[in-house]
Amino acid sequence: MSDLHIDLTAPNGLTFKQPLGLFIDNEWVSSSKGAKISTINPANEEEICAVHAADSNDVDKAVEAARRAFNGEWRELDTSVRGELLYKLSDLVEQHGDVLATIDAMDNGKTFQAARNVDIVGAIALLRYYAGWADKIHGKVIDPNPDKLAYVLREPIGVCGAIIPWNFPLLNIVTKLAPALAAGNTIVVKVAEQTPLSALYFANLVKEVGIPAGVVNVLNGAGREVGSAIAAHPGIDMITFTGSTPTGRQVMKTAAGTLKRVTLETGGKSPLLVFPDADLEQAVRWGHRGIMSNQGQVCSATSRILVHADIYDTFVIRFKAEVEKISKVGDPFQSDTFQGPQVTKDQFNRVLSYVEAGKQEGAQLVCGGAAFKNVGGKGLYIAPTVFAGVTDSMAIAQEEVFGPFVVIAPFHDEAEAIERANSTIFGLGASVFTRDISRALRVSKKIQSGTIWVNSSNDDDVRVPFGGYKQSGFGREMGEEGIEPYTITKSIHVNLNSKL
Ligand code: ADP
Ligand code: MG
Repeated sequence: MSDLHIDLTAPNGLTFKQPLGLFIDNEWVSSSKGAKISTINPANEEEICAVHAADSNDVDKAVEAARRAFNGEWRELDTSVRGELLYKLSDLVEQHGDVLATIDAMDNGKTFQAARNVDIVGAIALLRYYAGWADKIHGKVIDPNPDKLAYVLREPIGVCGAIIPWNFPLLNIVTKLAPALAAGNTIVVKVAEQTPLSALYFANLVKEVGIPAGVVNVLNGAGREVGSAIAAHPGIDMITFTGSTPTGRQVMKTAAGTLKRVTLETGGKSPLLVFPDADLEQAVRWGHRGIMSNQGQVCSATSRILVHADIYDTFVIRFKAEVEKISKVGDPFQSDTFQGPQVTKDQFNRVLSYVEAGKQEGAQLVCGGAAFKNVGGKGLYIAPTVFAGVTDSMAIAQEEVFGPFVVIAPFHDEAEAIERANSTIFGLGASVFTRDISRALRVSKKIQSGTIWVNSSNDDDVRVPFGGYKQSGFGREMGEEGIEPYTITKSIHVNLNSKL
């Protein structure tokens, strides 16, 4: 018996074998110094297990394995075979879907239903979408005159470093791994130390499906240690990061030492605009889901609602009624629960500190604002919180809270709505509710944001690119554009006739 696996029984009675080690070169190994980090179930605040935590020596080993794999069999593989492997991996994720969803619900606090229907369904869709791309990534020919033939190859960039947050533990990894592997790269993944378990379980599926050793390496560990070792590593060719804006800045600085390519998907304060001609019931329902889903822990959550003054009071009343109707907060494994606990004590405290800030700044607390415990007096639960009468200068109107916390404010005309929608450092998502097609398209053009949803919110799709404007990051994930960060262009000039 080693400490590299443990038999776990989840709160829903499911039993499974949970890996606890570092996954390097298709083997489970201990961290070089034997360090471990506990992971907690936020629903009861109890330790689930302790997981090996890498340090920079382990990063070196993972990078060596990834480099060997990149220079070896993986590089030689027919692109269709690479696609088949990704497709088979999607089948395995589907077969193990209940266990993976159970793990994410237990480790992160999200509801089992959401884990099953969003995280796991999304991971399967991404693997299948990029499996299809694997044999369709190719360059082009440029033949400008009879003397010259040039052709352009799109090669894999090499060893990718992926740094992942805790809000969609498995889905965040697959978002990066699927296009990276489809394009022929190898990868070193650093999971979030708050939610490492589903990634480790997934690594076993990578091995089972027959992806060669070293192509995928998964390390748990602290951000400052392992994350920055990956960002700084001279053997890593690109970094793909998802997380907070301050950490994204840090990653970019660290990566600058080796001038490696960086893509960042960072924070947001995404607006949702409701014009007077909107379908009010639909605006309320989408607006509620757009902020309260996943405990409000979504980078593109529509956390800032701007409503035309003529319908503002009605909207606030109806939004409050929707919160009261839908937001059953509690046990993530109960099928009628809409909202589980916040992921960690730090996040829980962060949200509560913004409740205090809102009150002190003079915003009007419409509902929520309080923490509460589940049965047994445990759990990091926060009642869904709505502030109205919020002005743009308040911290709660500008800063990303990352919780079940929304601010609502009135506007008076279209120009003002657009100006205020754009008046943050972020630009990840924005929703526009109107029945006027011209207005919808006009406003969509003027909002500085990587994604606009017309008459919906967070209605994303694996076939459509996603990413930020401004300090919400750069580079795109999903869709055809999602392959770009993982390929590098090589131009070959062939001299056909001309002599020097
Ligand atoms: P949060 O603060 O909500 O945990 P972060 O953006 O800090 O979000 O975390 C996203 C990922 O970045 C995590 O895997 C975390 O461990 C990692 N990370 C944190 N600090 C650093 C750092 N200085 N360099 C690289 N990665 C980091
Ligand atoms: Mg946890």
